[in-house]
Amino acid sequence: MNFNIDQIRKDFPILSQQVYNRPLVYFDNGATTQKPQCVINCINDYHTQHNSSIHRGVHYLSEKATEDYENARKTVQHFINAASSNEIIFTPGTTSSINGLAFSFGERYIREGDEIIVTEMEHHANIVPWQMLCERKKSRLRVIPFSDEGILKLEELDRMINEKTRLICVIHVSNALGTINPVNEIIQKAHQHNIPVLVDGAQSVQHTSVDVQQMDCDFFAFSGHKIYAPTGIGILYGKEKWLDELPPFQGGGDMVDVVTFEKTTYNSLPFKFEAGTPNYIGAIGLASALDYVTSLGVENIAQHELTLLHQGTEKLLNLGYVKLFGTAPHKSSILSFIVNGVHPYDTGMVLDKMGIAVRTGTHCAQPVMQHYGIEGTVRASVALYNNALEIDALVEGVKKVKTMFG
Ligand code: PMP
Repeated sequence: MNFNIDQIRKDFPILSQQVYNRPLVYFDNGATTQKPQCVINCINDYHTQHNSSIHRGVHYLSEKATEDYENARKTVQHFINAASSNEIIFTPGTTSSINGLAFSFGERYIREGDEIIVTEMEHHANIVPWQMLCERKKSRLRVIPFSDEGILKLEELDRMINEKTRLICVIHVSNALGTINPVNEIIQKAHQHNIPVLVDGAQSVQHTSVDVQQMDCDFFAFSGHKIYAPTGIGILYGKEKWLDELPPFQGGGDMVDVVTFEKTTYNSLPFKFEAGTPNYIGAIGLASALDYVTSLGVENIAQHELTLLHQGTEKLLNLGYVKLFGTAPHKSSILSFIVNGVHPYDTGMVLDKMGIAVRTGTHCAQPVMQHYGIEGTVRASVALYNNALEIDALVEGVKKVKTMFG
């Protein structure tokens, strides 16, 4: 496999630093990823040499920025294999993508008594916007439960789908459990009843290759900052037939065709959904990050991360005092655990003093914690630049936690 981890680590300047006189071990990748030098350079160069607002100027810089922004859209299109670049909407991130869609879809299609299905393992970003919509429209949110291993109970979905179901929203990879959900199967079931499906891909695009046409999802959302790109940029993918039908979720500059005080007509896709000056430098940075990921190979990344996940799982479980949450056979690189008898926060604090960055708490998935009756977990999430030594450091850290608190 052409995946030289020592070389790859050198691409990420932040990783070479010390924290509390220890080498930084960064396992908070589910929250946000570090940036390779090529992405940092891309953003820096843009501010240094090319910056200009897009779509508006006739001058050189504006035309260049417009071209780069639209090329970035094509890079995203090819990365997720969308049929057209019209289907790629730039947003500030997954949360914005889902909120925008909830507004737009809700305005057009949701009526009193309608039902929207989510799963018990959703991130709050894929619960609350739908709940808010349901409150506005007097519609109902229904929830597919999961088993204690962290596997969705799809037989419940079969029972839940009925003539009132308007949309199914499902997390592709759980940020709290690591489960890779069978989205293809869910989409097939939904489409048998002509129900569209939104896939929350915030934790999937960076770990597994995503082909939206093969998946056949109707909508797909993800965030740039979780795939080695800057913050403040993300994607809402939607099939053109849907995006054509849906009303815009924000009004303002660029999204319009003709504005009069009597009536406004809207711009064509994808601009209809991009009101105001977009984060064009973020979009160009995102394209640079996707090119970087593509150069390493998403499959190579997945294989590397899975090896680390299996090592971490085995070593933590071998300690005999670690409980793992999320034990589905089909998993991505998330180790969500509790050291028996130790509060996750205390575990996180001790690990931090050893230079190890993990996340503690509910991971914006409180219903997952409610399922297990726990306050939270410690989450170590693996990225392409982590290595086996860091897994060992985590395991050593957990041993120290146990000696201190156990
Ligand atoms: N969905 C999932 C599964 C996530 O992990 C996250 C981020 N933790 C989000 C949605 C929200 O992403 P963002 O904060 O970038 O909008």
